Amino acid sequence: MAIPHRLLLGPGPSPPHPRVLQAQAQPLLGHLDPAFLEIMNETQTMLRSVLQTRNAYTLPVSGTGMAGMECVVANLIKPAERMVVCSAGFFGDRMANIAQRAGANVTVVSGEWGDCFDLNKIEEALKNRRPKVLGIVHAETSTGVLQPIDQLGELCHRYEALLAVDAVTSLATAPLDVDGWQIDALYSGTQKGLGCPPGLAPVTFSERAVEKIQQRKTLVQSYYLDVVELMKYWGSDRAYHHTAPISSVYALQEGLKIVLEEGLQPRWDRHRQNWATLKAGLQGMGLNYLTKEHCQLPALSAVKIPDGVDDMTVRKRLLTEFGIEIGGGLGQFKGKLWRIGLMGYGSTAENVHTLLSALKNCLS
Ligand code: PLP
Repeated sequence: MAIPHRLLLGPGPSPPHPRVLQAQAQPLLGHLDPAFLEIMNETQTMLRSVLQTRNAYTLPVSGTGMAGMECVVANLIKPAERMVVCSAGFFGDRMANIAQRAGANVTVVSGEWGDCFDLNKIEEALKNRRPKVLGIVHAETSTGVLQPIDQLGELCHRYEALLAVDAVTSLATAPLDVDGWQIDALYSGTQKGLGCPPGLAPVTFSERAVEKIQQRKTLVQSYYLDVVELMKYWGSDRAYHHTAPISSVYALQEGLKIVLEEGLQPRWDRHRQNWATLKAGLQGMGLNYLTKEHCQLPALSAVKIPDGVDDMTVRKRLLTEFGIEIGGGLGQFKGKLWRIGLMGYGSTAENVHTLLSALKNCLS
């Protein structure tokens, strides 16, 4: 195979750490081999540390971030139950779509793309709709918004709702405290802040959420994503559920090890620092952020394409002449935005300078 060299600075996947790729290339073990079971245990322990949770139900679901989204929604929601989804972007809309497919009675609280939700607006929806579950995206990759959610768990619990969070882009790039913020269910992906290839979706469920799931009288629609069934393999029973993607678990274990070696706070600081340099450079070139100043996401910059500049011409040149991938806009911002990601191993000062000089070249 001749894979071209690429610097992945889009909305994901991010460049995997070389140690992660080495781990992924290790010889295969059987999915019930004691040596692999040990790797599973270590992976779960580290995942809990990175998520800042003691939740027993913490595991990587086989599949990408979308599998995590489907898993959280399918397990939490019983048919016809009320769910409120706060959506101000592509992935919020996607969560509402998945909730509808799971049979929920969904109310979408819409927000302006590029801004975050105000807690008062969410409280109004909780008061009026009395949902069983409230879903929200912590880091909206389509708009570069970081939604403050540190008070949201407490608010949801006051109205007897569970809080479900999409942390696909925030995990290991921005502060996230599952237990401290009283999050009941959360999903993420391996291919962004964790610096691994795509393929696994870390999920975690609070005791409150697990209690609700265990009391279900209706089966979770998906056997593959039923977290009680999954825990029979990831917990102490070690019962066959499906053949785990062994190599992806090796990669995740190494990715988590690297995150913990660096430390959560230094990692979040690094993301913020490199983002600030990128932001200064982009603004210096006359590019404006879509995202409101007060809720910008360090892992992803969403900037407006200047008038008279063609999206694809620039992105094609970046890719073919400089080997750099950045993303375009989604939904209503297709052709109008560039999305530049600095995530995990990709968030370095060198990558920022490489991108800025290549982009300057293309724009001039
Ligand atoms: N949620 C958010 C916020 C995302 O950014 C993404 C992917 O970019 C997803 C969900 C879906 O993840 P995946 O593409 O890994 O299935």
